[in-house]
Amino acid sequence: MTDDCVFCKIAEKQIPAKVVYEDDLFLAFEDLDPKAPLHLLFIPKKHISTLNDISERDIDLAGRMLKAVSSVAVSKGIGETGYRVVINCNRDGGQEVFHLHFHLLGGRAFGWPPG
Ligand code: AMP
Repeated sequence: MTDDCVFCKIAEKQIPAKVVYEDDLFLAFEDLDPKAPLHLLFIPKKHISTLNDISERDIDLAGRMLKAVSSVAVSKGIGETGYRVVINCNRDGGQEVFHLHFHLLGGRAFGWPPG
């Protein structure tokens, strides 16, 4: 737990979130300001600031989180139609919350390249 990290506080249940998946290592919840009909965030329970901060010992955690993303997407009925997974990293990546998170976006079509 890192003081003043909003996602640590969600993981610790100190502030509310609409949690759709949780296990011992990570959880998924609805984004407060959704950018698509389905917009979920997957976060590790332990504080990792950015994608740059994933260490060798986090590789299993990151793989399990990615597997959970696809499992939740399939369970939400968008496995076949498709979806987008986004990780924003640091300023130019548009990262606003400095606790690693995977965005799962679905329920509409997305353009490429992103704007
Ligand atoms: P990023 O720009 O990748 O750091 O994205 C941060 C995301 O967190 C944004 O989509 C916000 O809408 C979302 N967000 C911020 N605070 C909360 C919160 N308390 N509960 C749910 N989502 C949040």
